[in-house]
Amino acid sequence: MAHRFGIIGGGWYGCHIATSLRSLGFDVRVFDGASRLLDSASGNNQFRLHLGFHYARHYGTRMQSRDGFSRFVERYPGLSRAVEDNIYAVSRGDSLIDFLTYKLIMTSSGIEFSEMAAPPPELVNVEGCLRTPERVLLLAKARSYFRERLDGVLELGHTVGRIEPRGEQVYVDGSSFDFVIDATWGHLTRPPIDLFYEPTLLLYYEANGPFPAVTLVDGPLCSVYPTEDPSLYTLSSVTHTPLGRYATSTEARAALAAVTPELVAEKVARMEAEILRYVPTFRDVFRFLGPQLAIKTKPIGSFDDRSCHVFRDGRIFSVMSGKIDTVFFAVERILTMLEAMPDSDQHQDGGQLKAEVAAAFPRPGGGLAA
Ligand SMILES: Cc1cc2nc3c(=O)[nH]c(=O)nc-3n(C[C@H](O)[C@H](O)[C@H](O)COP(=O)(O)OP(=O)(O)OC[C@H]3O[C@@H](n4cnc5c(N)ncnc54)[C@H](O)[C@@H]3O)c2cc1C
Repeated sequence: MAHRFGIIGGGWYGCHIATSLRSLGFDVRVFDGASRLLDSASGNNQFRLHLGFHYARHYGTRMQSRDGFSRFVERYPGLSRAVEDNIYAVSRGDSLIDFLTYKLIMTSSGIEFSEMAAPPPELVNVEGCLRTPERVLLLAKARSYFRERLDGVLELGHTVGRIEPRGEQVYVDGSSFDFVIDATWGHLTRPPIDLFYEPTLLLYYEANGPFPAVTLVDGPLCSVYPTEDPSLYTLSSVTHTPLGRYATSTEARAALAAVTPELVAEKVARMEAEILRYVPTFRDVFRFLGPQLAIKTKPIGSFDDRSCHVFRDGRIFSVMSGKIDTVFFAVERILTMLEAMPDSDQHQDGGQLKAEVAAAFPRPGGGLAA
């Protein structure tokens, strides 16, 4: 009989894991406290389909993104689009590494780009620029894609309060499953690593014409990136987007709920001042529309690890998300861990081999030689 999985969280990770397991013949049920899919971080981010250019200081994240990017485009061909003019610019003076080092890291990582002979006219104070084929995620299409594929197995509006292992089963608010996957990005159970919760604030802007996607690297810098609507952009800042560091999800949610119009106005002023240093025409091109609020769950560490990790405690898996294009890694880890579990076929074969060896070489006292 196919295993039954209870999946908690209907973000990119929960949706991808659920559709992948379903296509392998497993039974799934997906719970989310929100009334629609991709409602939390998955629906409130910069919507960048990463290739790895953000992660000059973390090899594992770069590799997961580079490989995940092609797999994502293949698996979800309708859920992202090309960004016409997509530029990574190394800041002159404020970057943690120089342009040549940045370029060498990306070249040695096998990430596709072309070097620009000179910065575009929109940009100043940069040492060098790369043009990349990174893409943007299409949120509305992703929501309806997963809604359709998970029809009949979704429990939206159900905030899970309790996961309880009992014998060979795990209970989710009283319903029993063979396995449970916590894909809440650490909001229900906490992955067993040192982490913190970071409420975030991005800013939405409307552009009065085409404008390149511009990401300043490397370090505490800013970026302006289009959304699924080509006239709508997000402005993000490594320095000003975070609204604090919290030990628990509850505290982070409280901080997000306490955001005031005054705080938003202050962030607008600070983030615009930052981007104006590189894009002097920013205020002529862009008009502020409103804030976007979310929570990032981050591992503690200063080298920008945004790779995906999966942990298992008995029959409960918990997923520490990486970027959106690293969803594939989560499913692979879950399947590998499942295969390695004591009651899997693989282990039963191993048990049989052990019995055969014991039968062929019986020891006087019984059992196998150490
Ligand atoms: C500001 C910002 C910018 C980012 N930019 C990018 C980017 O450009 N590109 C990129 O690839 N990644 C980006 N990310 C990261 C990306 O958003 C996350 O990696 C991804 O969305 C995580 O997906 P998830 O499914 O694990 O979590 P989430 O999308 O947070 O989904 C978790 C789900 O669990 C549900 N849930 C929580 N608790 C319960 C409960 N008790 N019961 C039931 N349901 C529950 C929530 O409602 C939610 O829907 C960004 C993140 C932020 C915050």
